[in-house]
Amino acid sequence: MSSKSLKPIIIAIDGYSSTGKSTMAKALALKIGYRYVDTGAMYRAVTLLAMSLGLIDSDGRVNEPKLIEALPGATIDFAVTSAGQRTLLNGNDVEDRIRTMEVSANVSTIAAIAAVRRDLVERQRVYGEQKGIVMDGRDIGTTVFPNAELKIFVSAPARVRAERRFKELTAKGEQTTFDEVLANVEHRDHIDTTRAESPLRRAADAIDLDNSNMTIDEQNAWLIEQYEKAASRD
Ligand code: C5P
Repeated sequence: MSSKSLKPIIIAIDGYSSTGKSTMAKALALKIGYRYVDTGAMYRAVTLLAMSLGLIDSDGRVNEPKLIEALPGATIDFAVTSAGQRTLLNGNDVEDRIRTMEVSANVSTIAAIAAVRRDLVERQRVYGEQKGIVMDGRDIGTTVFPNAELKIFVSAPARVRAERRFKELTAKGEQTTFDEVLANVEHRDHIDTTRAESPLRRAADAIDLDNSNMTIDEQNAWLIEQYEKAASRD
């Protein structure tokens, strides 16, 4: 760590699905003592809420008015436990349920609803009021915190990302195939980049990171370097 004093900043990590954004954001936050906010988990929690209220039909169509009515009354929080950071929906630990393929299959549709985005962006901005935060997602550097002091945009080819995700899911015992995971990654890329409301875009002042050929350690070291530069800038 440099000897220069480091000011608290907002770190926005955006990019495509399954690029390992959350893993790197979490490791960085832990190392520098920042709070970590996983905004994808927030969209996943809203998806689970919609599914549990029966608001998504078998064709994936969403009853938007009913969801928009239910959303303000729902709480989404994060708890740090011995099992790591967990996502809470209305006080219940839903961390495992929001990571299933069923939620992944519906989340981009839910995240494309303008009123859902407005609600969650507002909640996300509250986390940033104190600075000292690492937030990952798709629109953090462009919409949630356009003035973030450090913005990283992460990418890797779809096949590389699907391979990682497939390993993760099968390790957890989920029954799926590589082709199904690849199709889901490509489907989410398409919806995320083409939706009308804050689509996934690289902020003009973001630093690019293609981590296809980087080890986790190399990536973490690179990230700390970017943080130290950004936090020591006047
Ligand atoms: O990051 P993760 O893959 O868990 O995010 C799940 C989904 O939530 C993404 O595929 C995307 O559709 C949506 N999302 C979003 N904006 C964010 C974070 C996630 O639209 N800031």
